[in-house]
Amino acid sequence: MTAPVVVVGGGIAGLSAAWQLQRDGMDVHLYERADKVGGKVRSSDFAGRIVDEAADAFLARVPYGIELATELGLADHMISPSARKAQVWTENGLMPLPEPHVLGIPLERASAEALLGLEAADALEVDLARTDPDPVRNDDTIGSLVRRRLGDRIHEALVDPLIGAINAGDTDDLELSASSPQILGAANASPSLIAALRRMKAGSDPEAPVFHSFVGGMRVLVDALATSLDGAITTGVGVDALDRLPGGAVQVALSNGEVIAASAVILACPAPAAAELTTEWPDASVDLAAIPLVSVTLVALAYPAGTVQVPSELSGFVVPRNADLKITACSYGMQKWPHLGGDVDLLRVSVGHGRDQETPALPDDELLAVILADLETAIGITAEPSDVRISRWDRAFPQYVVGHTERLGHIEGQLNPDGVFLAGMGYRGIGIPACIDQGRSAGVDAILHVLEHR
Ligand SMILES: Cc1cc2nc3c(=O)[nH]c(=O)nc-3n(C[C@H](O)[C@H](O)[C@H](O)COP(=O)(O)OP(=O)(O)OC[C@H]3O[C@@H](n4cnc5c(N)ncnc54)[C@H](O)[C@@H]3O)c2cc1C
Repeated sequence: MTAPVVVVGGGIAGLSAAWQLQRDGMDVHLYERADKVGGKVRSSDFAGRIVDEAADAFLARVPYGIELATELGLADHMISPSARKAQVWTENGLMPLPEPHVLGIPLERASAEALLGLEAADALEVDLARTDPDPVRNDDTIGSLVRRRLGDRIHEALVDPLIGAINAGDTDDLELSASSPQILGAANASPSLIAALRRMKAGSDPEAPVFHSFVGGMRVLVDALATSLDGAITTGVGVDALDRLPGGAVQVALSNGEVIAASAVILACPAPAAAELTTEWPDASVDLAAIPLVSVTLVALAYPAGTVQVPSELSGFVVPRNADLKITACSYGMQKWPHLGGDVDLLRVSVGHGRDQETPALPDDELLAVILADLETAIGITAEPSDVRISRWDRAFPQYVVGHTERLGHIEGQLNPDGVFLAGMGYRGIGIPACIDQGRSAGVDAILHVLEHR
């Protein structure tokens, strides 16, 4: 009898891997060290409703989230934000993001000029007139490419806060190819970045939802997976060590003292945990341990309905790194997701990024004081919140710095031939759809490994 494929970690990546393996008829078992699955997907009770403590939606532009939800029978339960317009903090207060834009890059001269002035608008014209190719360099960061093509102003005022809100990173450090496939694709597609992004935008339906979630929060997806995988999941038991076995198999030591054989292993755990488990492959382990991580704290605040006076079409705002505010983003939960409104106004505020690791580490009272002061400055709220919840995400966000893609190539080059595969946020994409895709792909890779060694 063939040993099962073992999945380490029950976040969305590990669950997706196990789902793929089970669908393809493989014997699979997932071990999750915590008492329940979900990892960074956590939806819990706050102010009398279920509110997400981290991700509150997944991107609709890529298919992986929608496909999985559909397979799990959740297609009719998907919801999308009611309020879709966001603002950005500027020296003149909150201003609308320039429309149309892609990841903060304005596509029209007039809206760039209205927000950032003549110089930024001229930068668009210069880019549109470019005829000589300017190939993406291996060491390009998002920042180096956007600054080179469109100038510092557009980068610092718009692109960095928007992309930084997704990965908590400093876009001057993040490898372009690993961190923004969309900008990479456009930069390679034509000498003009703006022309390529305009073509990309023209091909998309402006009315189509950008994000999806569920009433009940992102946890709904995790719970549906856990139910479908019943019997193939053990919670409260971690994987403590891996050893190579002859014939492409792996020995797995569990935290309950058991030692089992696996025909392949999927490491769907954060990079520091994967580093500890791969000491049999010392170079891979050192490389995994070297992936930098950033902490973020997400604070939910509830106020009596009517306290937060902002136009109803707005979903929230982002804040540039060089601004006078410490918060990095604020979303108006009751406008984005009307089922979270009713008798409360709900805000979700983030602090912490690549160049600010002090604010997310502040003690609760100091952190709250900083956030309330920033909210008063930005949207004029002086009232005390009726409920506050602080969710700390320590070393949660991997930073795909320059060299990340090459480093991953080395790591996988050592692990994959021995039947050990990586999946999840630490590796090839931060968002939930990217983690689903990585989990499912790792499942397929594990099957191929098992078939090869039968
Ligand atoms: C504050 C915040 C906001 C976010 N917002 C969004 C958003 O709006 N949209 C979006 O798409 N994404 C968002 N994300 C990102 C998204 O939530 C993550 O990319 C995704 O949930 C990561 O899933 P994962 O399976 O890779 O890892 P994790 O969720 O970290 O799961 C890894 C699991 O492995 C377990 N584990 C570790 N070591 C072991 C071991 N040795 N043995 C057994 N188990 C082990 C851990 O306990 C954990 O459960 C956000 C993330 C955060 C933190």
